[in-house]
Amino acid sequence: LAQLFRPLDMLGWVYRNIRQGLIDMEQMFGIIDTRAEVKDRDAAPALHVSAGHVRFENVEFGYDPERPILKGIDLDIRPGSMVAVVGPSGAGKSTLSRLLFRFYEPTGGRITIDGHDITGVTQTSLRAAIGIVPQDSVLFNDTVGYNIGYGREGASQAAIEEAARGAAIHDFIMGLPEGYDSKVGERGLKLSGGEKQRVAIARTLLKDPPILILDEATSALDSRTEAAIQETLRSIEHGRTSIVIAHRLSTVVDADQIVVLDQGRIVERGTHRQLLVKRGLYTEMWLRQQSEREEQAEAAE
Ligand code: ATP
Repeated sequence: LAQLFRPLDMLGWVYRNIRQGLIDMEQMFGIIDTRAEVKDRDAAPALHVSAGHVRFENVEFGYDPERPILKGIDLDIRPGSMVAVVGPSGAGKSTLSRLLFRFYEPTGGRITIDGHDITGVTQTSLRAAIGIVPQDSVLFNDTVGYNIGYGREGASQAAIEEAARGAAIHDFIMGLPEGYDSKVGERGLKLSGGEKQRVAIARTLLKDPPILILDEATSALDSRTEAAIQETLRSIEHGRTSIVIAHRLSTVVDADQIVVLDQGRIVERGTHRQLLVKRGLYTEMWLRQQSEREEQAEAAE
């Protein structure tokens, strides 16, 4: 009988994986709109990630053919390195990650992972290889343990706790009335923005993907919480190819590569130091954020 149910289990797993990917994406980007269905090609093979080398090669894209959003994007993200994508609102930062997740397909050029064009592999295998930490995680109305364990089918309690430790939320959970069995979500305990993000981080740690997309919170976390979350994020990025959509430049200083996107084009790229020397858009954004910080600090005094 167990043999008979195995394919069903498998289907359930595939379904949950896809569903999780979609839920994370929807949360991250706030999109559940009508979109052209992206379909797997006939007999598409699964993606096997060896190193996690992500490349955008002359990528063009527009949601509407009349209005190009990304123009000639070339981006080489070495295995295990971290790229930060910055730029004004509407520049196309989130669109880049939607394409990597194959929510949409480029209208020109291609995106490869370890040399494989992502349009030629199954979506399930692609999405299993990419972890997403959205800026505002919505939790399921279930226990906090379930919300973390969701990252990997059949995860043991020990593995869930280890992931929670990695996300620095284990002690907090142990302090809840029912520990890992405490109900969270709309109908349970209301967690703060920082706590929810830590649950999402723990879930991602459990999934252990070779590639990460992080959407840094724009919403206000107090600066101590933010600094602590940053530290946790940096530790989960370690050894994974990471793409960080950054809203605060102070968090990208250590990126291996920063790309500045403006109206769908990469207008500057380099490390923080290299970009400051250029005295271009990045420098302008950096100086603006510095003075905003100073004003905030003065106002707080
Ligand atoms: P922000 O920093 O404000 O989040 P962003 O750089 O991430 O901005 P994107 O979300 O990638 O920008 O959007 C780029 C452009 O694409 C915007 O002009 C936006 O209006 C448009 N756009 C985004 N999503 C869709 C969609 N689903 N359908 C049509 N146009 C869209």
